[in-house]
Amino acid sequence: MTHLNRHLLLATLLVCPAVARADDEALSLRAAAHAQDTTPRHFPISINGNMADKLATGAHDPLHARCLVIANQQTAIGLVLVDACMMPRDLMDDAKRRTAEVTGLKPEQILISATHCHSAPTLSGVFQSEPDEPYRQFLVEQIVAGLKTCWDRLEPAQVGWGTVAVPGNIFIRRWLLKPGELALNPFGEMVDRIRMNPGFNNPQVDRPSAVPDHELSLLSVQARDGRPIAVYANYGLHYVGGVEGDQVSADYFGEFSQRIMRHLAAGSVTPPFVGILTNGTSANGNNVDYSQASSPRRQPYEQMGLVAESVAEAAAKRLKTVEYHTHLPLKSVTRELSLGVRKPSPEHLQKARDLLATQPTDKPLAGLPAVYARETVLMNDYPDEVSVLLQAIRIGELGIVSSPCETFAETGLAIKEQSPLKPTFVVELANGYSGYLPTPKDHELGGYETWRARSSYLAVDAEPKIRQTLLELLGEVSARQH
Ligand SMILES: [Zn+2]
Repeated sequence: MTHLNRHLLLATLLVCPAVARADDEALSLRAAAHAQDTTPRHFPISINGNMADKLATGAHDPLHARCLVIANQQTAIGLVLVDACMMPRDLMDDAKRRTAEVTGLKPEQILISATHCHSAPTLSGVFQSEPDEPYRQFLVEQIVAGLKTCWDRLEPAQVGWGTVAVPGNIFIRRWLLKPGELALNPFGEMVDRIRMNPGFNNPQVDRPSAVPDHELSLLSVQARDGRPIAVYANYGLHYVGGVEGDQVSADYFGEFSQRIMRHLAAGSVTPPFVGILTNGTSANGNNVDYSQASSPRRQPYEQMGLVAESVAEAAAKRLKTVEYHTHLPLKSVTRELSLGVRKPSPEHLQKARDLLATQPTDKPLAGLPAVYARETVLMNDYPDEVSVLLQAIRIGELGIVSSPCETFAETGLAIKEQSPLKPTFVVELANGYSGYLPTPKDHELGGYETWRARSSYLAVDAEPKIRQTLLELLGEVSARQH
């Protein structure tokens, strides 16, 4: 709508209810969802998310790019969740550009994020895992195909949203050392005041360094007759694990999709229902409660089923009472933010090169000092500054923000608290991969998430800058249209 037309329309709106209904029609929602299979077609394949590479020889359960498109006559939003540990910017940009060629979605209207399961093919080089190039190409094609299927299948829709606390699954994994205690980092410095995953009954640690965000946020999408199309959810649990090491798996994110479908009795609807559980701010939280004496013994894949069931059950119960809307404003904005990189000092670099010179070159590096020495050398080639793509989306009164980082619970809670849109989903590892995003306080405390590597390299001030920018973008998308 042109500026002039909008003013004319506004003027008539004040006096003419019939025009008000016509204007509403521009906000009439359409939607479609599709789960595109992304299980690798070739094995063995590198699995991401470990210090040493692992090779998968098969799939325990299928991987997907779970796609959802919501549109009105003014704009459209494409949401994609990929069963992956982390995905680089160029892969996602490529998928968006190619989607724009075959649908009406523009790149800035698409949000692609990774679940952060630690049992999917490597897409981003981290530690000793290297990306599988044919799989990267295959995945781009599947994302485009998934969004295209949605685009071609858009139908009149209604959406509703809500939140519910689901405690008992997420535990802060960063523990403060007892006063006076310090721990060694992999660069040989006795400076850390944090132990990540300290183990059970560790006498050196005191308590968790933060509180988790237990909120499960839900967006439910239905056809106008109430047939379920999709649920897009957000919950900040790192992953569950308990997989067999040589099998790819979608972890509890895949289990959630199955279980929410069953809870909503959506197993036989056409087109098929798609459950989508995005990762929230989970960098410092996982599913292991180190305040207990031990963790319960489980069979492979058992624990992820239990966690997925608790989340799906809570989701289904909460969705019974949400209010649905057929006409809503939609908006998506993106912004590039330039951030400093923590490059190694000349002394760190020399020390790393000296250490690597003593390592055998014909087998994987063993031990954290050697692994981080290699990361130090690789980080020396990084630019002094990088640009990260930040995004905010509005669906009625619901907000979604995303950054390409593994984000701490504190950051998500602060954004939710200050956001003008309620609820606000904080989706991590979206539209690129820029490593961990510790708060300045967490940088001071040290620990795994702060150790300089391709998995943690943004400057110490990155977290407040990203948080502030996401809040500005939320202000922008929530501003009144007229
Ligand atoms: Zn992880």
